[in-house]
Amino acid sequence: MKVLIAEDDMTSRIILESVLKKWGFTPVMTCDGKEAWEAMQSEDAPKLAILDWQMPKMNGIEVCQKIRKIDTSDPPYLIVLTSKDEKKDIVKALEAGANDFISKPYDNQELRARINVGKRMVQLQSALGDAYKALKHEAMHDPLTNIFNRRAILELLEKEMARAKREKTGLCIGLCDLDYFKRVNDTYGHQIGDEVLIAFTRFVTEKLRINDHMGRYGGEEFLIVAPGSKEVKQGTMFERICEHVHNSKISFEKENISITVSIGVARYSGAENPDTLLAAADTALYHAKKIGRDQVVHADNL
Ligand code: GH3
Ligand code: MG
Ligand code: MG
Ligand code: MG
Repeated sequence: MKVLIAEDDMTSRIILESVLKKWGFTPVMTCDGKEAWEAMQSEDAPKLAILDWQMPKMNGIEVCQKIRKIDTSDPPYLIVLTSKDEKKDIVKALEAGANDFISKPYDNQELRARINVGKRMVQLQSALGDAYKALKHEAMHDPLTNIFNRRAILELLEKEMARAKREKTGLCIGLCDLDYFKRVNDTYGHQIGDEVLIAFTRFVTEKLRINDHMGRYGGEEFLIVAPGSKEVKQGTMFERICEHVHNSKISFEKENISITVSIGVARYSGAENPDTLLAAADTALYHAKKIGRDQVVHADNL
């Protein structure tokens, strides 16, 4: 684990560097507060820092204060090292954002124990951060296809509609429903059906632009939110998706499975709400199914 050391006195700095190495840490050496502050802002900065109080350019307390002003979910653990040891100094260091305080001359074993407390805190914080990220991903994604789930795609739709209105840009949605998907399950079994859903998501994702979003709306229904699409004519993205799905084969051992999709497209004019926009796409999808499936119908053309 990297540990930042900010110490202007060369002898103390060399001693600290050598004991930290001996204890298995990777010291990152700095000689004044400014260098320390810069090192703590770098990418992959140390998560643990030992800051001397009195240093040129910027003192350890100021470094603490500046670091604590950074808005982050993963703040570093800061230990202030100083020859000051009056109660009011300790209070000042802690109030500036230090996690711990060690008075010079320090006892090596005490220093080691305190650094190890810091290490445990950093590891705990990192594990909590990972767990939070995993939970957040799980709450927003469909476990089968790993694309957004219904709740997440609907939240995105609401956000994108608000943005389109604010920025006066276009927005289209496409409600996709696999054609005769029940037959896939009936013919090949539910497990292959699942694999087909995964393959379908891949085919569509290949045709999406960077700002488009796709989510699983229901069983074999998917919602595409395409911001910035003002002009929706034949030959647009939705038609390309439909064609690409039509032309793609999904291979399983001896089988080559073909699927098709019907898509109902609705354009946001600035007047709809998410429910009415979805209802328009749903009506268009219903028409696509009715007139033969494997095609795109635009609500504007109905
Ligand atoms: P249509 O062209 O009219 O849409 O016909 P369809 O067969 O696709 O429509 P229907 O609504 O009759 O059937 C949808 C099928 O999708 C039934 C359901 O078992 C299947 N399905 C829904 N979710 C999943 C899933 O997660 N995995 C698998 N394997 N099948 C699913
Ligand atoms: Mg000093
Ligand atoms: Mg359906
Ligand atoms: Mg279907």
